[in-house]
Amino acid sequence: MRKKLAAGNWKMNLTPRETVEYIKLFRERIPVERTYDVALFPPFIDIPFLMGNLLERRDIHVGGQNLSEKESGAFTGEISGNMLADAGCTMVLVGHSERRQFFGETDELLGKKLIRAFTSGLLPVFCLGETLEQRKAGHTFAVLDKQLTALTDVTPDLRDKLILAYEPVWAIGTGVTASPAQAQEAHKYLRERLRGLWGNVAETTRILYGGSVTPANAKELFGCADVDGGLVGGASLKVDSFQAICEAAA
Ligand code: PGA
Repeated sequence: MRKKLAAGNWKMNLTPRETVEYIKLFRERIPVERTYDVALFPPFIDIPFLMGNLLERRDIHVGGQNLSEKESGAFTGEISGNMLADAGCTMVLVGHSERRQFFGETDELLGKKLIRAFTSGLLPVFCLGETLEQRKAGHTFAVLDKQLTALTDVTPDLRDKLILAYEPVWAIGTGVTASPAQAQEAHKYLRERLRGLWGNVAETTRILYGGSVTPANAKELFGCADVDGGLVGGASLKVDSFQAICEAAA
């Protein structure tokens, strides 16, 4: 059985002050005893404010939205995996489509970031998905195959720590959600590919869906056989809506 994961990606939203308000409310709303996992991915600067106000609620995972592929050194403006882990993070996003699109992150670079995440003791949430043009051209699976090449150097001992997030670019922040059938088709494909590459570990790898998840559609999406939760942007910014999405993962 794969435990569902409800993950909130705040992107470049919520200040430290807003983070404190959010988490004080959120930690009261989300029970400790749950059948699902919860994670928040705030901007770097919010991480200490989040950690400081989680109190004993270490069941709520916190992660970075990105990390450097380098271990440490003269890389102005970068954040290392070790820094994230030392600040209390247990997870990190790798390869979000906005990183690929606006910051030129390539499959090769993402392969290095994945390894850095693992060696820092973080669980990477590796994001992948096609654009609308690619889908219309019938290239969805080919695009996913290419993006999966970032996994090439992941050694067998690390494979059970990977989390995938299928995020069709056309559904991110657009209000257009993949239908449950479209999500299931892509997730099934990813699991089959992963089984082909890595074998049985694919059965326990969680594959999240991301792209305009809302309280209204979460339950149906999370009900698909190969959808193991969600990576939620806009709807994670308000406690009420993210709480409702978390409950849909129950
Ligand atoms: P969205 O973002 O829920 O606002 O579409 C999802 C994501 O980019 O992770």
